[in-house]
Amino acid sequence: MAFAELISQIPTLDILKRSIERGRVGHAYLFTGADRTVLERASRAFAKVMNCEAAEARNGGESAIVAECCDHCSSCERIEANHHGDVQWIRPESKMRIITIQQMRQLMDTLHLKPNDARYKVWTIVDADRMNPQSANAFLKTLEEPPGNSLMILLSTQPDRLLDTIRSRCLRLNFPGEQTATLRSEHQAWLESFAQQLTGKDSGMLDRYKALDVLMGQLSEARSSIEDSLRDRFLSDLPDDVDPKMLEKRDLELKAAVEAEYRRKRSELFTALEWWLRDVWMLSMHADASFLTFPDLHARSAELASRVATKPLLENIRLLEKLQRALHTNVQESLALEVHLLKLNL
Ligand SMILES: [Zn+2]
Repeated sequence: MAFAELISQIPTLDILKRSIERGRVGHAYLFTGADRTVLERASRAFAKVMNCEAAEARNGGESAIVAECCDHCSSCERIEANHHGDVQWIRPESKMRIITIQQMRQLMDTLHLKPNDARYKVWTIVDADRMNPQSANAFLKTLEEPPGNSLMILLSTQPDRLLDTIRSRCLRLNFPGEQTATLRSEHQAWLESFAQQLTGKDSGMLDRYKALDVLMGQLSEARSSIEDSLRDRFLSDLPDDVDPKMLEKRDLELKAAVEAEYRRKRSELFTALEWWLRDVWMLSMHADASFLTFPDLHARSAELASRVATKPLLENIRLLEKLQRALHTNVQESLALEVHLLKLNL
């Protein structure tokens, strides 16, 4: 897609366009936002504009630089197909979804070589917040002495988890975008099982408990995956003969980090549930399906919408808001869930 067209969809990109036109492109960018897909599209478009052969020919003359990509030259096509040797992507690897020191070394080694046939070497680090302490420190060195004609683009949906020193050395662009795509990709599957327990004829108490089970299962899965990934980040770089006091300190830090991340994840999960309940409510008012957050759950949502009245369905959304507020206080989680979710009008 041409850059101008993409800007009309993702207005934040206009900031990049203007800095390209003024010849003020930085070495390192941090793209943040809730929707990873938007961040990746932005990064790919940036790489194309910086390397488009048609734009290079056009901008060769005296006229002002035009920040655009043609989408048809060999450079644009190879970037789109992920086949451009000078335009590389790093993504978290392994079960732990960590960006490893090996991946960082590869980046540093090739970044210092001249581009093969591009004007700019462009490295995008997807989920940059997944660097472990070693890779983050290694990367910091590259940020401090960036090679010429290179561009590093860090993408993060959780920029708070990046080192301050990394954040402060990057030009940050925030892509507000919609949360919807992330909600869909991460929460549709369990919501479907949840909804499945509640559709059928009237949902009795047993069905509600089954649905509650699905939710609890999802929460405990979230907690253990957070524990797994953070344990690696907090404890993996300690030497074998670590001082027990240091170990204890790291362990406390780990526990606090797990709790904070779990709370964030839990709140996201209930937000997803709230949006689904909103879908049901909207369908009860015969809203168009194109407004749904979870279009794939349309059939199940519509079934619920057909048997519960609009007003009690709206109550459900309020109930979820109340639940979220209750969880912010130190109320016991399972109790709060039971109290609120068993009251849902289904
Ligand atoms: Zn092109």
